[in-house]
Amino acid sequence: MNVDTLIVGFGIAGLNYAEQLRSYNKSFIVMAPDEESASHLAAGIVNPTVLKRFNPVWKAAAFLEYALPFYSNLGEQIETQVMHPLPIYRILSNIQEQNDWSVASSRTSLEKYLNKQLISKDEFPEVRAPFGFGEVIQSARVDTKKLLSHYIQKMIPNQFISEKFEHKSMIHGEWIGYKDIQARQIVFCEGYHGVENPYFNYLPLIGSKGEILIIKCDQLTEEFIFKGPIFLSPMGDNTFWVGATFDREDKTTRVSGEGKAWLLTKLKQFLKLPFEVLEHKAQIRATVIDRRPLLGRHPKHENIYLLNGVGTRGVLMSPLLAKWLFQFVENNIELPAETDIKRFEKQYFRN
Ligand SMILES: Cc1cc2nc3c(=O)[nH]c(=O)nc-3n(C[C@H](O)[C@H](O)[C@H](O)COP(=O)(O)OP(=O)(O)OC[C@H]3O[C@@H](n4cnc5c(N)ncnc54)[C@H](O)[C@@H]3O)c2cc1C
Repeated sequence: MNVDTLIVGFGIAGLNYAEQLRSYNKSFIVMAPDEESASHLAAGIVNPTVLKRFNPVWKAAAFLEYALPFYSNLGEQIETQVMHPLPIYRILSNIQEQNDWSVASSRTSLEKYLNKQLISKDEFPEVRAPFGFGEVIQSARVDTKKLLSHYIQKMIPNQFISEKFEHKSMIHGEWIGYKDIQARQIVFCEGYHGVENPYFNYLPLIGSKGEILIIKCDQLTEEFIFKGPIFLSPMGDNTFWVGATFDREDKTTRVSGEGKAWLLTKLKQFLKLPFEVLEHKAQIRATVIDRRPLLGRHPKHENIYLLNGVGTRGVLMSPLLAKWLFQFVENNIELPAETDIKRFEKQYFRN
């Protein structure tokens, strides 16, 4: 079978690259094993702000303006709503934070995203917030699990191969050969598993583990995402996503007693209602040493590409990152320098 592109990996990055190819009528195959990835476990929160320090995320406006209509249109195409616009209510810890919020919400880079008007603690008596809330507007939740499964069924049922790609079986020359597939180029979107990819394992993909809980809480509103020391985000049917831990040492997806205890302690600091824990899970975020994505072409092989390192903001960033990479691969349009893996070539790449 001959195709333009073989995509390896089908998390949110692989899906977004597939969608670029599909929308430009390029032929492609996606290969990924049937296993849960970081994209399946993510809360799917699309948030243009950093709520620890009240800053915009890097290139917030560009990513958000591309991502929101992208997910909304894609939902229509796969006939399932996958994007749910939801404000984030940031619990303010003290008077200093109230003041910081007021200052931040007047900054030009943030005024579109932060409501200047503070929200009173009395709005949500079920949530402990003696200093009230700051509201993030233009935020959303993308149901990544639903998106990934429906996209395969509706858009690429005959272009998806459910198996792990074995790098050692790949033949590279003018074409990429893998079993019976011949592709003009290959794009690796393997998330943290990229550390096992012999073509790109020179890159400083560090990874950070996140543990989460899914809880059931019958009386809590499903209209808002709450952000205290951790996120509490509605998932439908009175279930909520609670997370996450952040661990750079342990690179396994095993859940831990300490992780669960930490999450429960943080949750009980602000949720006053009774709840039941339904699930406890962990995955690894593909984080990079300089906190910027990893896009680009292999230093030696013209037709081997990478879309990785989307870190803690993969849902927000992947649509535009996939577009940038597509334009680079197909039309030779330069990548933003901060994203291009060339930045690491001198320091890390050895022949
Ligand atoms: C707990 C937690 C919460 C998060 N919450 C959010 C959030 O709210 N908002 C947000 O924007 N981001 C969030 N993130 C980050 C987000 O999950 C990631 O940025 C994003 O999902 C990474 O997508 P990816 O496609 O690069 O990698 P992954 O989702 O890890 O997908 C990699 C894919 O590659 C496949 N693969 C790997 N190796 C091979 C191989 N050899 N052959 C074939 N296939 C292979 C895997 O099976 C998988 O399909 C969260 C992450 C975690 C862990």
